[in-house]
Amino acid sequence: MSVRVGHTAEKPAFPILAHELLQDDQTRRNVRHATNVIRNKRALRVEEMPDWQDLRTSAHAIKTHTLLHLPHYLEEFERNCIRAGGQVHWARDADEANTIAIRLIRKAAERLAVEHPEVIKVKTMTSDEIGMNRALEREGITPWETDLADMIVQMGKDEPSHIVVPALHKNRHQVRELFLQNMGLTELGTEAEDLTGAARHYLRKKFLEVGIGISGANFAIAETGSVCVVESEGNGRMCVTMPKTLITLIGIEKVIPKFDDLEVFLQLLPRSATGERMNPYNSIWTGVTPADGPQEFHVILLDNGRTRMMANVRERETLNCIRCGACLNQCPVYRETGGHAYGSIYSGPIGAILSPQLNGMKYSRSLPYASSLCGACYEVCPVKINIPETLIHLRGKIVAQDQNTLSGKLSQESMGMKMAAHLFEHPKQYEAAQRLARTGQGLFEKDGKLVNLPGMAAGWTQYRDLRALPKQSFREWWKRSHTDRGDGSSGVGDE
Ligand code: SF4
Repeated sequence: MSVRVGHTAEKPAFPILAHELLQDDQTRRNVRHATNVIRNKRALRVEEMPDWQDLRTSAHAIKTHTLLHLPHYLEEFERNCIRAGGQVHWARDADEANTIAIRLIRKAAERLAVEHPEVIKVKTMTSDEIGMNRALEREGITPWETDLADMIVQMGKDEPSHIVVPALHKNRHQVRELFLQNMGLTELGTEAEDLTGAARHYLRKKFLEVGIGISGANFAIAETGSVCVVESEGNGRMCVTMPKTLITLIGIEKVIPKFDDLEVFLQLLPRSATGERMNPYNSIWTGVTPADGPQEFHVILLDNGRTRMMANVRERETLNCIRCGACLNQCPVYRETGGHAYGSIYSGPIGAILSPQLNGMKYSRSLPYASSLCGACYEVCPVKINIPETLIHLRGKIVAQDQNTLSGKLSQESMGMKMAAHLFEHPKQYEAAQRLARTGQGLFEKDGKLVNLPGMAAGWTQYRDLRALPKQSFREWWKRSHTDRGDGSSGVGDE
């Protein structure tokens, strides 16, 4: 089984991408503006909820329970979905899921007597995770993204930079340019109404003409075999009702036990994601209904590394995520670099823990370090995922893996840490090292700050101020001041 998350394997590490993106002032301004707007709206909507913390606790409990009994709920979902007329397929990894989808699309195109198959798609991160669009195009199938932001990303041959607002890095003027180039228009205003009007006109034709739809899902309900998509534009509802054949791709962690559980999530998700009290469109469908909506309905249940994450309690919690994006909007690192720096379709704090785990740490090993560990992501997460603790857990895993190799053991970082551990255990040597550092720092000191430190320490002085060590340590000051006062105490630190 080979797990794949988007084009992660082809991307450079986070520090390299972040360094490049920090030079792009326009993108940084766009990201900061958009995240500010969403953050402020979210804060207002959360404030109106007196039971917000209780809802978070409930959501965490439902998700934790479901994951502990995942095989049971997945099988229950499968039974009820089939009973309602749906068909369920199980995919271990990206290749299997794409192969199943292509086979289903080909069969549906045959029935529709379509020579060059096309599909309309409603926003699905999971299909981005498995690189579905590229797989379809290789087979001569044309995918049309219908979510406004995803359509912008597709038209620009770009990558999503946010899990809820994939084109958050583009401003209105840039979007207008893309629409002019791709929609065959000669005139177009710059107001939001102009752009959405153009998109509506462009997409309406696709909704009416294309007979095969692909959707993701926010939730799959075991009790009824239903699938739920929440969205703001109505394109999702068109995609799941207009085509003759509907294929829904779901990560296995999206299942919830009961229909009533939706009550909790449908309060938390829109407020956390876009600062709305409720999503304008909430579509829930169960199997097929004769002469109404798609007459053929398939669900592909995708693993792609998820069951591996189930084994560890700290890692398993990552699967609680309902992809609201609140942690991205809050994260000081994401807000500076934007989503493309993460080299994965899952960006921000959730991307920093999800991508390395799905990939089995093969790629994305720099991501657990792409965080200030300030804890803002944990505070806003509607399902209470402790992202900072998971980041530390993953960093520990990386260090442990490195210690299994000779080059890892002899790396600068490893040697430096061993040296530090030794000094912390031996106070006299620690003080001697401090005295040595104070003498040596003169070479790099400028206006009370250290500049251009060499080797591994260079990272500390490249982008931030590192204060020089003071002329005396606290212990030296204490010893001297108490001896001067003649109280006979040498203070702290006597060994
Ligand atoms: S980790 Fe929490 S805050 Fe971040 S996207 Fe997932 S549910 Fe939302």
